[in-house]
Amino acid sequence: MQPGPRQAGLLAGLLCGLLCGLLHVTGAAQAALPEPQDIPYPGVIRLHVDATDLAHRVFRITETVPVAGPGRVTLLYPEWLPGNHSPTGPIDKLAGLIIRGNGGDRIEWRRDATSMHAFHVDVPAGVSQLDLQFEYVTPTDASQWRIVMTPDLLNLQWEKALLYPAGYYVRQIPVEASIELPAGWEFATALRGAQRTGDTVQFARASLETVVDSPLFAGAHYRRVELEGAPARPVRLNIFADNPGELQATDEQIEHHRRAVREAIALFGSRQYREYDFLLAISGHLGGIGLEHHESSENGVGLGYFTDWTGNRNVRDLLPHEMVHSWNGKFRRPADLWTPTYNVPMQPSLLWVYEGMTDYLGVVLAGRSGLWSPEFTREMLARFAANYDAGRTGRQWRNLQDTTQAPIINYRGRVSYVSWQRGKDYYTEGLLLWLDVDTRIRELSRGKRSLDDFAKAFFGAHDGRLEPLTYTFDDVVTALNTVVPYDWAALLRARLDGHGPGAPLDGLERGGWRVVYKDEPSSPSKESDGADGTQDFLYSLGLSAAGDGKIGEVFWNGVGFKAGLAPGMTIVAVDGKAYTHARLKAALLAARADATRPIELLVRNADTFQTVRLDYHGGPRHPHLERIEKVPDLLTAILAPRLRPAL
Ligand SMILES: [Zn+2]
Repeated sequence: MQPGPRQAGLLAGLLCGLLCGLLHVTGAAQAALPEPQDIPYPGVIRLHVDATDLAHRVFRITETVPVAGPGRVTLLYPEWLPGNHSPTGPIDKLAGLIIRGNGGDRIEWRRDATSMHAFHVDVPAGVSQLDLQFEYVTPTDASQWRIVMTPDLLNLQWEKALLYPAGYYVRQIPVEASIELPAGWEFATALRGAQRTGDTVQFARASLETVVDSPLFAGAHYRRVELEGAPARPVRLNIFADNPGELQATDEQIEHHRRAVREAIALFGSRQYREYDFLLAISGHLGGIGLEHHESSENGVGLGYFTDWTGNRNVRDLLPHEMVHSWNGKFRRPADLWTPTYNVPMQPSLLWVYEGMTDYLGVVLAGRSGLWSPEFTREMLARFAANYDAGRTGRQWRNLQDTTQAPIINYRGRVSYVSWQRGKDYYTEGLLLWLDVDTRIRELSRGKRSLDDFAKAFFGAHDGRLEPLTYTFDDVVTALNTVVPYDWAALLRARLDGHGPGAPLDGLERGGWRVVYKDEPSSPSKESDGADGTQDFLYSLGLSAAGDGKIGEVFWNGVGFKAGLAPGMTIVAVDGKAYTHARLKAALLAARADATRPIELLVRNADTFQTVRLDYHGGPRHPHLERIEKVPDLLTAILAPRLRPAL
């Protein structure tokens, strides 16, 4: 655990809570929220979600909360959400809250003065249960957050559709949840014991922790595929889509997903789930998602995941990534990230393990399963390496460790200059860090050991255990030292706390590959370009541009930045001709051939036009990997299947 600003903030918050409680004893006084206790909640919460109002995109909730007797009860709307690691609980989307006692008289609620997610209720004598009704009014437009209801699909995350009593660990609160589905729809969830009557589904009693960790997908078009047939602990792929055509996966496509699951189990040597359900939505309307849970994952991708198999390869590490989280993130969880309730702040100091290693292992499993070819995997790694090495000048002021606070600072991650401000860089820079560690283990042990051994020892030593097992920085270092002795603490701290000069590329080079720049983009770059017409001139001019010349990203202190270009401006013309990507590329080639010739851009900024001359002569530059001949090719060994492919 790393000391940091969150701890100071938490301490200040606790002090404030105590002092405020003492100071404000009259008038609009608000008591501090009850501290959570690890004791059973006396009673069972009944939660029913009516999910049929697809037109208005509203979930209607009725809930009964048993209470012990008269006095103050505080109901909480989950604020700190697992997987988000941040206070993203959408309290603005809760509406229509009416509370009655024993189903009769209305009881007024009062929102806490400082915690917007807490509602105080003074329970009168004779009332044994609170009957709640309210709505979770979901976005009707993607600008309001991700769309979770469409005419063909819905994605219910229970924590956004419930209130729970303060004062108890969420694992100690029993809940019986049910849902009414749109007529005839199918559903999938890791919540077990489903009994369906018509379109109403009643689930078996489970802890609030399990309910919140078991979101539900439902839809009009559904296909279920068994991926792994371990009799006791199966893995299923539940596919929902906008239309039946998108469900049509070939046997070969399914086989790659099967191999990803089998390779994951071989990697960890355990299963940390009773049953595992991939929830996969293929949609042009439902908001995209990749969110981990212990026995399931939410995966939302665009149209064509199966039907345009070669045009959407970039997203194919999503499912392996999310399944790795069953071990890394859910079963084994950073000690400072674990909280007893959803209204206690999280400290995400170890996200470079939780997400960084998961990103690395997700890529490794995509490679081992054939979801990605070795060549495609290398092209993806080239993009990551170039972006974090050349692009992230922000490392000069903000180290990797500090980026673990990014979800709290700015969950949605939209900033003007991500290269300078930085964002959730613990994912991809973390990936490069773990490639460094993996190759170092292989080198130190002369090929006898690898990060696979760490994965098995650290994550896989308790087959079948569901209860989270927390860990600290020191635990990670100790486990690495059991794989192969080295000063891992010093190495990791240097990477986490240092300022560069660039990204940790030692792993690539120790793995036998280096980043080189060529005129032509790699296939992953071309596929991501295709989505919105944006093309990448990042490693030449330090900018990307949409098909109409509108500038997207601008590298801080890059060629374009120094010439005064910024995101949101539009390149109207290149060397006197209307903007096209081809003309900008031709100008790059012409300027390389003639060192006296600048690239001349006519740029629109709001209603102002200006001519910008770029004195750049390096030509087009796109990252690729190239073999370092005399260094053993460890990267290919890392990506090779452990299991013999069935096809
Ligand atoms: Zn993740």
